[in-house]
Amino acid sequence: MSNFQNHNFAGQKALIRVDFNVPLNDKFEITDDNRMRAAIPTIQKILNDGGSVILMSHLGRPKDGPTDKYSLRHLVPHLEKLLGGTKVLFANDCIGEEAVQKAASLQPGEVLLLENLRFYKQEEKGDEAFAEKLSKLGDVYVNDAFGTAHRAHASTAIIAKFFPGDKKMFGLLMENEVSSAEKVLHSNEKPFTAILGGAKVSDKILIIENLLERADNIIIGGGMAYTFLKAQGKEIGSSLCEEDKLDLANDLLAKAKAKGVSFHLPEDSIVADKFDANANTKLESNDNIEKGWMGLDIGDQAIKDFGQVILQSRTILWNGPMGVFEMEKFKKGTKAIADYIVEATSKGAFSLVGGGDSVAAVNQFGLADKVSYVSTGGGAMLEYFEGKELPGIAAIKQ
Ligand code: AMP
Repeated sequence: MSNFQNHNFAGQKALIRVDFNVPLNDKFEITDDNRMRAAIPTIQKILNDGGSVILMSHLGRPKDGPTDKYSLRHLVPHLEKLLGGTKVLFANDCIGEEAVQKAASLQPGEVLLLENLRFYKQEEKGDEAFAEKLSKLGDVYVNDAFGTAHRAHASTAIIAKFFPGDKKMFGLLMENEVSSAEKVLHSNEKPFTAILGGAKVSDKILIIENLLERADNIIIGGGMAYTFLKAQGKEIGSSLCEEDKLDLANDLLAKAKAKGVSFHLPEDSIVADKFDANANTKLESNDNIEKGWMGLDIGDQAIKDFGQVILQSRTILWNGPMGVFEMEKFKKGTKAIADYIVEATSKGAFSLVGGGDSVAAVNQFGLADKVSYVSTGGGAMLEYFEGKELPGIAAIKQ
């Protein structure tokens, strides 16, 4: 693979797989443009070198071929704005004559956006012939779509085989994501603390197993904590519990002990009499949550205990909220943990927030620029932390 920073794109047409899968409202206005913004540095570097750019992406989950609702055409005006006024050309199909002609006549400094890749079923199937057609549009292939790196789709993985080693590379976003994840998983800066939360243990089993090989501390909060607490024989009332994962929870606790990994569960909870923003609440020890009450946030003692561990950590990974942070009454724990991570970061720790709702939480609290790295790739980052090799990464390295 080639190194993006060192590659000179002068006179070359760069075919970039970006992740422009942004949310649109019913007026086709972009309600969150973070994914588009994240790709801008890669595009700018190529244009500044004197290259031209062909962008390909998916948008949504179109089921029956071309549909206006899922057209990338809606993104053109905003993309032009993000590129400081650079005109963005559009091809109404990602392959075929129009795309070929528009790509062929592209001049240095120009940008072409292709129509939604998922208008073709071949994209998600990883079809070789489709990937080959796409590959013909550019001289070099740049993968900057970390959000889909865990999928072996035509444009994210299969396409790479049609480019020689010096003509395929990661874009800046992808490079950042991969190097940040590597820094966390293979850091010599100890202690390494992983903080996991969110609703279900079942979604996080593989991550916990992989982290047991690497972390010094594993902190568990959120709904998933109650399955572990119940497995330890505690009364958890009506809190979230996966009965079929109790044995597994005990296995994980035993493995942690055997490996010398400190496993931290919350001592107390904010319990509520119903799952509702206006529920009655109280602070309760996790030894004995009454019937009819459910833990919807970690309590004050848990915040204190977790904070102590976080503040002495040198490497921190955070995935999943500590409670139902979407509701005002149950966001204190998640906010407090975010604040501790920010404090640890300001003292020199490397902190990565990755995967889904903890990313939403740091954004909501306005703390995204006070941690070391916030990942843009939910599912991809999760699979990375599960220890899997992501097809989009492997394809470039091969
Ligand atoms: P996940 O997608 O697995 O990271 O889960 C995130 C979701 O878990 C968020 O929507 C939270 O509201 C929810 N959650 C966190 N803590 C709890 C809890 N104690 N009980 C129920 N749901 C929770």
